[in-house]
Amino acid sequence: MKSGNASDRASAGDLLHLVRSGRATTRGALQEVTGLSRATVGQRLDRLFRAGWLREGSGNPVASPLGGRPSVRLEFDDGHAVVLAADLETRHARTALLTLTGEVVAERGWPLRVDEGPEKVLDELGAGFGELLRASGRSPDAVCGIGLAVPGPVDSETGRVVQPPIMPGWDGYDIRGRLRRAFTEHTGATAPVPVYVDNDANLMAYGEQRAHYPDCSAFALVKVSTGIGAGVVVDGSVYRGVDGGAGDIGHIRVPDAPGSAAALCKCGAYGCLAAVASGRAVAARLSAAGVPAASGSDVRELLAAGHPEAVGLAREAGRQVGDVLATVVTLLNPGVLMIAGDLAGTPFLTGVRELLYQRALPRSTAHLEIVTSLLGERAGLVGAGALVVEQLYAPERAEARLAALGF
Ligand SMILES: [Zn+2]
Repeated sequence: MKSGNASDRASAGDLLHLVRSGRATTRGALQEVTGLSRATVGQRLDRLFRAGWLREGSGNPVASPLGGRPSVRLEFDDGHAVVLAADLETRHARTALLTLTGEVVAERGWPLRVDEGPEKVLDELGAGFGELLRASGRSPDAVCGIGLAVPGPVDSETGRVVQPPIMPGWDGYDIRGRLRRAFTEHTGATAPVPVYVDNDANLMAYGEQRAHYPDCSAFALVKVSTGIGAGVVVDGSVYRGVDGGAGDIGHIRVPDAPGSAAALCKCGAYGCLAAVASGRAVAARLSAAGVPAASGSDVRELLAAGHPEAVGLAREAGRQVGDVLATVVTLLNPGVLMIAGDLAGTPFLTGVRELLYQRALPRSTAHLEIVTSLLGERAGLVGAGALVVEQLYAPERAEARLAALGF
């Protein structure tokens, strides 16, 4: 931005972005980075102050890079709006009200089957949002956007899921439109709100990376619950691929895995990774051995109780996933590989490590940290909230919204 005619380019939206990213947090630093005059920076900041998007911080002033008296630090003012987020799993839903800086103000979870179809499920999410707003005493008109995490591949242009194996009836459905309507109906909001939809593993990866590994430029998260999926964050952005299909590792074939040839996957193929190593697959094997289990969350409970058969099968599932992850790690060379979901625990991680270190090149794993989820069940919600904020406060969008609001 420090080029010749930068001065007519750096908008109020750009200044906001510089402050939020921490690149320039004083008037002086903003002048430096943008090349704008003091007066122009002042005018643009004034719009942001009047909108309630920016404030002068209460912390210690910072030394000015241009010398002279220390400048007051500018901060993103997160009190002017809130975000709603929902995380949809195959048999469970979770909703949260978050601040613009990602703190969870209120949350709620309840059983909800994704296979009941989008009409009913999205209507229930709208009702869940209404309850959260009432419980926290916030007006529906304070909500600037809604983020939704779903257990299937998403076309981020349209917010629709694309051939989702474990979401029958959702293929191509207008999720954004229906959730927007459900929100309005259940909350009495006077204006429609933007809705953003993404895959759950993507949003979990985004939430965890931002909250706990902000300096990691290549971050991968693998979610192993009913299905298996991965999210990749490169240089602070979710990497989605050209069709939103990046990270869908659950349907890689693993012909050498025990029982692979007879393992029918939800996608219709035999021998997918998800068919031999997901929570659902482990649950099926436990049931066959006389231990009742129907889902990833049942396996989670057995693992928490140290059930020996569940522990053994989780470790074996970890080995199968670790074999696939050796390729993932070789391709991406991530700094952090995070394991999340129902199976994430010591036995599974031990299995992952066994195969991963055996199969991947030492150079790909020399600086690799293999960890378990830190945000736990909130990861998808935090990531969904962060996605909304990143979209709405990106420079161009922020500038357009400011203008639309009359600032
Ligand atoms: Zn499959």
